[in-house]
Amino acid sequence: MGPQTAVRIVPEHPKKPLVRRLIPDRSQRTRHIVQGLFVALNLFIGIQFYLWVRTFEVASPAFTVSRPAGAEGWLPIAGLMNLKYLLVTGHIPAIHPAAMFLFLAFVLISLLLKKAFCSWLCPVGTFSEFLALLGRRVFGRNLHIPRPVDIPLRGLKYLLLAFFAAFIGAMSAETLTGFMLTPYGLVADVKMLDFFRQMSLTVAAVLLVLVLASMLVQHFWCRYLCPYGALLGLVSILSPVKIRRDANACIDCGKCARVCPAALPVDQLVQIRSAECSACMLCVAACPQQDALQFALAPRRVPAPARRWSRRVLSPLIVACLIAYLFIGTVLLARVTNHWQTNLPDSVYRSLVPNIDTVAHPGI
Ligand code: SF4
Ligand code: SF4
Repeated sequence: MGPQTAVRIVPEHPKKPLVRRLIPDRSQRTRHIVQGLFVALNLFIGIQFYLWVRTFEVASPAFTVSRPAGAEGWLPIAGLMNLKYLLVTGHIPAIHPAAMFLFLAFVLISLLLKKAFCSWLCPVGTFSEFLALLGRRVFGRNLHIPRPVDIPLRGLKYLLLAFFAAFIGAMSAETLTGFMLTPYGLVADVKMLDFFRQMSLTVAAVLLVLVLASMLVQHFWCRYLCPYGALLGLVSILSPVKIRRDANACIDCGKCARVCPAALPVDQLVQIRSAECSACMLCVAACPQQDALQFALAPRRVPAPARRWSRRVLSPLIVACLIAYLFIGTVLLARVTNHWQTNLPDSVYRSLVPNIDTVAHPGI
């Protein structure tokens, strides 16, 4: 049984009455629908991309499909490189521009809604969540990593991020363009597909270890190793929307802290600033007390005669709509400005894709 579904007796608070919710919490149902839709979208894009690659690999394909630019969402380093190119030159890059637009969409989501990308959209985050649930079914519970071990381990993802940031930060606009125009840069997406299609035993063993680790420790990859999540987490510190606790309504039951996958002390803080908060709203779903815990903007003072503080709460539906708005809006912007597709002639792919094994990383 997962922590979010665990039935616990709510202790009596010596001073505050338990005011049960009037409306049942729908955050997890809404989040799971969004996660499912995004996994389905990724599967659709993945199949289309595979079929497109096959059209260059087989002599006479039975049918042809167009290249889905959305596959570039799986090229976060290309997205970061292209963003640097845009910032330095003011020009939108010609190769893998969709990688940059998708990266920008996820940064915007983090800027507004904490690290919601990780718990609402990212297929790896969704798979990690499923593995943690599976781990609880198989082993009875997930492991709790003690803070003295957990904190240095969490630092690993920031070290990886620092490595990539230093590496890309040192590249000039000319170097970035030169890299993207190498055979490897042009078909980095096909190389990514082949990373999984022609998986070596070593890579398979590493992935298996990560799967087992994610069954034992909740969000092992996201929590300790993902540099993408680390970057989005740092951006998310600026988010105006946060998990906010009303200490007057809170009955100190500690349920919110117990279900938090990031092991944040939600029951002791009035707002969660941490870069680790992924806006999963599990804490909100677990809270038994009406209005004690909400995903909200900072409270604002209602003028006289009311003279009270009013919270601007974001319901799960509003969060889902904002995520969809930012994601779809960014993709549409790229499409209508004709900056979504990498417009290479088929002849380039015809010469590179069948010989993909000979296309090596150029080194920089
Ligand atoms: S504080 Fe709440 S929303 Fe943030 S990660 Fe923990 S459970 Fe999820
Ligand atoms: S905010 Fe946390 S500690 Fe307070 S009532 Fe809700 S679940 Fe319990």
